[in-house]
Amino acid sequence: MKKGIIVSEKYWQFDYGRNHPVRTIRIKLAFELMKEMKVISQDEIYEPELASPEDLLVFHTKEYLEALRREKPDPAFNLGNEENPAIPGIFELCLLTAGGTLKATDLALNGGIFFNLGGGMHHAKKDKAYGFCYVNDIIVAIERARKKVEKVLYLDFDAHHCDAVQEMYYETDRVLVVSIHQEGIFPNTGKVDELGSGKGYGYNINIPLPRYAEDEDVLFVFEKLIIPVIKRFEPEIIFIQAGIDAHKDDPLSSLYLTTGIYEKMGELLSEFNGIPMVITGGGGYDIINVARIWTIFWASITGQTIEDWLPQWFMRISIMEGYEGPGIRDIPSWSGSKNSIKRDIKEKVDFLKRNLPF
Ligand SMILES: [Zn+2]
Repeated sequence: MKKGIIVSEKYWQFDYGRNHPVRTIRIKLAFELMKEMKVISQDEIYEPELASPEDLLVFHTKEYLEALRREKPDPAFNLGNEENPAIPGIFELCLLTAGGTLKATDLALNGGIFFNLGGGMHHAKKDKAYGFCYVNDIIVAIERARKKVEKVLYLDFDAHHCDAVQEMYYETDRVLVVSIHQEGIFPNTGKVDELGSGKGYGYNINIPLPRYAEDEDVLFVFEKLIIPVIKRFEPEIIFIQAGIDAHKDDPLSSLYLTTGIYEKMGELLSEFNGIPMVITGGGGYDIINVARIWTIFWASITGQTIEDWLPQWFMRISIMEGYEGPGIRDIPSWSGSKNSIKRDIKEKVDFLKRNLPF
């Protein structure tokens, strides 16, 4: 199986500002750890190219792209606030990030699995920046793939719902959108009864998790619903938004996932390795967890095993960041997830099973 990582130094040379939750150094840390743990080799590393305006115009409006290119605050496009700073370099970063997911898609369509560490901007709207996202590399890349294939699966396990991707594909049965996220947090969409409309009814699946849901709750959803649904849908390409902000220590959510479930999800999804696969990054606001979890997830989805250790240089940074675990994996722990959480999730899964047309 061919595989590769798409990454550029420019991903972490950009700085969103001192008080912004996104710390781009997380991508460098993840990339260095993946190399150190030997889950990628030198000939599996690809540089992204800049996406062209034509690539972006399949989704974004010309007016918005022009405003973004100016890199100046513009409230009409939600640019230049605390959430979406408009600072020099942002336009080029967006082109590069989208170019990275396009590259992953082109490579995957020839067979294999490719991970753009900088991608996953699932909140970016066609005419405005939203939730730290400016250009929707996911939609741009899915549209590229749809020139070659009919049926696309998009799976998103970021703690936040993929509102923009859902909106884009709400009325089609050709792109199945599946999202597992925390309920009641930004952007407040992604309810279980948002099932799609018209021809797209049943092709939009949301599993909102209550606070403190933990590994075994997500495993239940994967085994009972997500894996069987993927099998029945028979996608020709799979996109995965691998935000890791549902981890128990992430400052932007209140779920209670550990590295264990990310490793397990990778294992379960590796069953689909014959199908072209594109993975993007996503949320993750604890830089040590981003590096640990992307390394673990990449290893497991590509069928590689890794030892439970961390290199000295990584340990030193970890301790400064407040993580003192001995290895790359979390020590198993539980939130004490209550029966009410289990019942809530089971009811949602049962509701979806009754309402899905396939
Ligand atoms: Zn997120």
